[in-house]
Amino acid sequence: MKSLNQINLSILLCVLLLSNPISSQELQDNTLEKQLILSVLYTQTSTEFIANNIQTYTSAASHIEEALSDKSWTASLEQKSDFSLKQPAIILDVDETVLDNTPFQARAILTGCSYPCGWVDWGLEASAEPVAGVKEFLSYAKSKNIKIFYVTNRVSELEDATKKNIKALGLPFDEDVDVLLMKGENNWTSDKTARRALVAKNHRIILMIGDQLGDFISLKETEKPVAERKKLGSKYKDMWGTKWFMIANPMYGRWESAIYGNKYPESEEDLIQMRLDALRTE
Ligand SMILES: [Mg+2]
Repeated sequence: MKSLNQINLSILLCVLLLSNPISSQELQDNTLEKQLILSVLYTQTSTEFIANNIQTYTSAASHIEEALSDKSWTASLEQKSDFSLKQPAIILDVDETVLDNTPFQARAILTGCSYPCGWVDWGLEASAEPVAGVKEFLSYAKSKNIKIFYVTNRVSELEDATKKNIKALGLPFDEDVDVLLMKGENNWTSDKTARRALVAKNHRIILMIGDQLGDFISLKETEKPVAERKKLGSKYKDMWGTKWFMIANPMYGRWESAIYGNKYPESEEDLIQMRLDALRTE
């Protein structure tokens, strides 16, 4: 016979399941997803992360005046020549640069159902909050008549929802040209080089902001073993903090696939073991 406490617990669980938005998803083994918990908590709860993002965007804003007056200034490796008279533009990545998708990551931890599982549904909700500092930064850039482009590797079926989300946050979104360049449109792959080149055709790209190396350079160049990949930091040392601005993303990215030699292993056990093997102890 169940004790009163057990009955109360059962009732509480039923209430929780009925009221919790993740209850409709099948709960799976979340051993792997649980490894995300401190990264997600850091981004969701720490003032340190907010301060870091405000710092990044304030620093980016402080370079706008110089970038506007120096007509030879470009932040794009794809921008080759004859750009001095073109309208200045800024390119931003979307996920974790403009939009905060940490609720999606939190759901993955709780359900054990991680990317791509549930990702499109989350995107269609169009309810992501802005990354700290981005709104003030973009409003300042807009006041300087700078064109704002969003270059994202979200799938193209999320285009309308992404636009809706960005506009609902009051961020600039011009309608005269396509300012939201998705993966899958015009045969665009995950490599953003072609999209940067397209923006560079009619604009002088003065700053770029992202959370992945691929937001600045070709994907091919980023796909290196960890030690070699780390050298890209100093290779582009003249760009960071003046023309390129990196938002920290401890939750996911190509930095993680580099740990596995840029090829995800078949099993979760192997993946967790490779993470352990990658730890440096001296
Ligand atoms: Mg991103």
